[in-house]
Amino acid sequence: MFKAFLVKYAEIGIKGKNRYLFEDALIRQMEYVLKPVEGTFHVTKEQGRIYVLTEGDFDYEEALEALKRVFGIAYICPVVIKEDQGYEQLEKDVVAYVDHVYPDKNKSFKMHVRRAKKTYPGTSMELNADLGGAILDAFPEMKVDVHNPQLLITVEIREKIYIYSESIPGPGGMPIGTNGKAMLLLSGGIDSPVAGYMIAKRGVKIDAVYFHAPPYTSERAKQKVVDLAKLVARYSGPINLYVVNFTDIQLYIYDQCPHDELTIIMRRYMMKIAERIGKEQGCLGLITGESIGQVASQTVQSLAATNEVCTMPVFRPVIGFDKQEIVDISLKINTYETSIQPYEDCCTIFVAKHPVTKPNIQMIKKSEKKLEEKIDEMMDQAVNTAERIYIEA
Ligand code: ATP
Ligand code: MG
Repeated sequence: MFKAFLVKYAEIGIKGKNRYLFEDALIRQMEYVLKPVEGTFHVTKEQGRIYVLTEGDFDYEEALEALKRVFGIAYICPVVIKEDQGYEQLEKDVVAYVDHVYPDKNKSFKMHVRRAKKTYPGTSMELNADLGGAILDAFPEMKVDVHNPQLLITVEIREKIYIYSESIPGPGGMPIGTNGKAMLLLSGGIDSPVAGYMIAKRGVKIDAVYFHAPPYTSERAKQKVVDLAKLVARYSGPINLYVVNFTDIQLYIYDQCPHDELTIIMRRYMMKIAERIGKEQGCLGLITGESIGQVASQTVQSLAATNEVCTMPVFRPVIGFDKQEIVDISLKINTYETSIQPYEDCCTIFVAKHPVTKPNIQMIKKSEKKLEEKIDEMMDQAVNTAERIYIEA
């Protein structure tokens, strides 16, 4: 029955030139998510509104699910489109629409006619009254409520007639690509995919880097990260995932530095490498899934020590979240099941029994002096040999 979707977006802050950039990015992402859906879709912009028009049969549920993953969409309204065959037919079409969409007629409603085709007979007011009357005649259980209706039945009269009344919430946010690009440090855990999702939601395109430590971490652990990147890409669009071989650097740190400082020093090198790859790829920030106090390496002192090596801004969108709040989002975006698969993480392999929780930056720097001889070369090697995997949902 539904032949189109009207897409509504929050319009705050998107005036003038920004508006057109915003709309074009939105349309691009809508086309992208609809590509794998069964059916033929045309995303169009008409008079400041964005429609998805369809041709022939299409998978309604899947199309709707796809649109629910497009950042920037506030509401999705499924639309019935009819030819303009005069008022009598319009009345029949509107009554048939209500009958079909609302099996339970015990509802209050308000008519909202928009007469974009100015030659159409009657005023909007008259059409509201007439169509409302026709609905009441057909379904006496329904009642009109102009202040607080359960249903707002909209009829737009253009070259064709558009009828809709349902508003399905989209994910909100800003269209991907309207806010630059950032590099996500993506591990196999629960937090970093959520962090990537949250920053992408604000319109930021993302690339990702994963630190792999073979043979201490398995191919299966890497595959899990690829799987997570795929799930994030359902929202963010394609992701370039850089898999960095981190084994030599980890072993070197393990040999040269105090073991209780290992995690912090390792994390500092992760950030440095992520930043280097990010810069080469035009990223303007880094993203991590860190949350204050979650583990020893995420105390405020540890975060300060990790952050100290970065020159780019580091976005930590879950910094103030409790674990359960992060889990709730991972369940919503469907990454949780994959995240909890039990594959080893490179951070946990060399982890000390009693890691420092209040690292002193001067002491850390002193320990890092012991790496001077080989670390620059090893970092170059890690960056230059990174494997790039193009991830699409
Ligand atoms: P997550 O659930 O995201 O793995 P976590 O609670 O396990 O986080 P840590 O292991 O301390 O926390 O990692 C903190 C952040 O550092 C992660 O959220 C991620 O952004 C980054 N990170 C950790 N390990 C890796 C890795 N192997 N590759 C890439 N990034 C990583
Ligand atoms: Mg982790």
